Amino acid sequence: MLLQDKVALVTGGGSGIGRAIALRFAAEGAHVVVNDLTIASAQETVEAFAAGARPGLAVAADVADSAQVRAMFERVAAERGRLDVLVNNAGIAIAPGQTSAVDDITAVSDQAWQRMVGVHMDGAFYCTREAVRAMRAGGAGGAIVNMSSVAALAGFGPVHYAAAKGGLLGFTRALARELGPEGIRVNAICPGFIDTPMTAPIPEPERAHYAAETPLRRFGRPEEIAATAAYLASEESSFVTGQWLSPNGGFVTV
Ligand code: NAD
Repeated sequence: MLLQDKVALVTGGGSGIGRAIALRFAAEGAHVVVNDLTIASAQETVEAFAAGARPGLAVAADVADSAQVRAMFERVAAERGRLDVLVNNAGIAIAPGQTSAVDDITAVSDQAWQRMVGVHMDGAFYCTREAVRAMRAGGAGGAIVNMSSVAALAGFGPVHYAAAKGGLLGFTRALARELGPEGIRVNAICPGFIDTPMTAPIPEPERAHYAAETPLRRFGRPEEIAATAAYLASEESSFVTGQWLSPNGGFVTV
């Protein structure tokens, strides 16, 4: 098993890609802490762990709120004793006040911009700062995986989403340099279109268009992103840091 007895925290683990990552990590022998905005969705993920998996821990917190994040990591320290892996996965495509993923910058409100950057960038920053403290205390290195997007590579999507996801790539590279000497690896995943509740509202003609533009002719499955996360979180990628991997069916090739 790739993650035997590792302690891993997955943010936004109550749905879609985050849930698939939590399930895969649990199947790989990890003690998985599942975060989401609501305890109900995080708990649902934990309850879906296969028989024989380490018991999961569900923790509700808004990753964009530093006090809630600090409290979450205090709970992890108290209940699991250390941290080996952090996956900064929590994300939104539509900010509050928006009815759809707007593609007109003049329609992006201050509030929508701030929440988009808040969830993706502040969230990754707050969680990573606490995770690094915990990993340092453990003295055994660690792995951090940031969920970016093809939006960051090719400029798809609303500008505030692409900007926040692009910011995560700079964050990943700088952190990898900073933390490499301590044995903490930092990488990013840039998924293409994946079938999750986030992409469910995309209207059918648009879905068909994106699928047709994808060499593998389909959307990806959350489990396919979880496989990439398991690789980056484990010793299988022991010499990989500061990189991004883009499981996207060939939709973007750079
Ligand atoms: P999803 O909507 O199914 O799941 C996202 C989860 O994050 C939800 O459970 C949500 O409640 C949680 N979340 C949102 N804001 C939060 C916050 N402030 N604090 C804690 N939890 C929060 O979406 P998904 O498709 O599984 O997306 C997961 C990640 O992958 C996101 O970062 C997304 O931007 C990224 N991504 C998704 C796709 C795709 O096609 N689905 C493509 C590229 C990148």
